[in-house]
Amino acid sequence: MTNVFSILDILNGSGIVEDLIMSKVFTGSMPVIPPESIIREYGSEFINGMASGQKIKWKDTTYLGVHILEEAEPTGFQRLITEDIMGELDKVPEKIRKYIQSIVLSPFNNEYDSYFCKRRGREGPSFASADFINGQITIYALPIDRSVLKSALSEHLTLSHEAGHIIDFQIQPIELGFFAYSPRWSKAICEDNKVMRTRQDLTTYLVSPNAEEMKSLREDFADSVMFFSDDGCYKEFLRENYPNRYKILEELIGNP
Ligand SMILES: [Zn+2]
Repeated sequence: MTNVFSILDILNGSGIVEDLIMSKVFTGSMPVIPPESIIREYGSEFINGMASGQKIKWKDTTYLGVHILEEAEPTGFQRLITEDIMGELDKVPEKIRKYIQSIVLSPFNNEYDSYFCKRRGREGPSFASADFINGQITIYALPIDRSVLKSALSEHLTLSHEAGHIIDFQIQPIELGFFAYSPRWSKAICEDNKVMRTRQDLTTYLVSPNAEEMKSLREDFADSVMFFSDDGCYKEFLRENYPNRYKILEELIGNP
C-alpha cells in the first residue's frame, strides 16, 4: 500500500499540478488569483460551522466542478490551501467526485468534537466532515504543519471517505435514508464475513478499524467507498476481502 501512495506523492510533488495552475495565473497581466477564482462573502447560509450573521470573505475556486473555499484574508488557523485540495481532487475518480459540490478549508475546529470523541472513545479533534445533503466537505483547522496535514489527506484518502458519506445519502431516494442502513448493505456485510480473508489479521466484522471503533455502518460504507476509489492496492483489497460490498459499489457508482 505504501508503494501506491509514495508514487502518487512523487507525482504530486513533480510540479505538474502546480505548473498547470501557474500557467493559468500568468496569462495576460498578473492577476493575484487564478481566473476561475472569485472573492465572495459567504455566511452560514453556505458554509457549515459559521455562526449565524457572521460573514467571511472567501476565495472561491472552481476546480474539476468542485468549489474550493479558502479564506481570502487568511487568519492562519487553517494551514491547508486551495492547491493542496486540487492535488487531492485529481486523485478522486470522476464518478465519486461528482457528488462533491464544495470543499471548505475552515478556519474553525469542529463544534461537535466532544460528541465524536465520546463516540470514538478517544481524544482528538476531527479533521474533516461531510454535509451529505449539500455535498459539502469541511476540512477543519488543526494546529499542525501543512506538510503533515497534506500527508494525512493523501494517506487516509480523506476526500473519498467524505464523498462516501455523501453518496450514502444521495444514492437512493431520500425517503429510503442512508444506503448503509439498507437490508442490502447488511446482507453484503454478513456475506463478506464468510469470505476467507487474504490476511489473518482481518477478523473484524466491519470493513476498517475506523468503522469498528465507531461501531458505525455509515463509517463502514464511507470506508468501503474510500477503498473503492483507489486505483491501486486499496481497491484490490476491497475486491478480494469484501467482494459483496465491492459488487454493490460497482453497481451503484460504476467502475471508476
Ligand atoms: Zn466518516
